[in-house]
Amino acid sequence: MIPGARLVLLGRQGAGKGTQCTRLSRHYVVPHISTGDILRAAVREGTEFGKKAKEMMDAGDLLPDDVIVGIIDERLDRDDTRARGFILDGFPRTTTQAEELMRITDPRGIDVALNLEVSREVVLRRLAGRRVCVDCGTNYSLEQPPKYRDTCDVCGGDVIHREDDTEGAINRRLDLYERETVPLMNWFDGRGLLASVDGMGDPDVVTARLVEAIDGLRGR
Ligand SMILES: [Zn+2]
Repeated sequence: MIPGARLVLLGRQGAGKGTQCTRLSRHYVVPHISTGDILRAAVREGTEFGKKAKEMMDAGDLLPDDVIVGIIDERLDRDDTRARGFILDGFPRTTTQAEELMRITDPRGIDVALNLEVSREVVLRRLAGRRVCVDCGTNYSLEQPPKYRDTCDVCGGDVIHREDDTEGAINRRLDLYERETVPLMNWFDGRGLLASVDGMGDPDVVTARLVEAIDGLRGR
């Protein structure tokens, strides 16, 4: 039987976290828990914290930590995560949230927080070159554009350069990420829970590096 895993994946936007989460989820047979996805699911299912989140979002308020933590806690309390573990993507974002994560997963905690390292220059180039179909969301890039100019190969919709993907907007997001995440990484590191993994190169090679880091830390 393949052992489960209890993982947190950190990394800049554009570092390939989504791809690697999917792969690790298959490798360890654990659910990939993306904050955005489970928030939408909790609202749809009308869970206790899903209802709170909906009220606040409808009022235009940002979600406070206790609501976000509540939604994570509800999800981690299900059978699949209790039995197998989880890969958290997009949580925690702050050291306060990390402390809450340790509280709600006590006494087992997490195995490791992985830092998928791709330099700022590389993700900036990737994100700035990204083009997306407004209708179906298919991603393209300057290197891999649609076959016909600005027309989606999949659905024929318009392929655009989103305002979020201009260099100024990307730089602001990357600045925010660094402000929040550097202290968070130090927090995990201080507890012997951080592993940094080179995220450059072929996705298969990156997955192999991540698995090696995870299994290495757990084998201690
Ligand atoms: Zn499309």
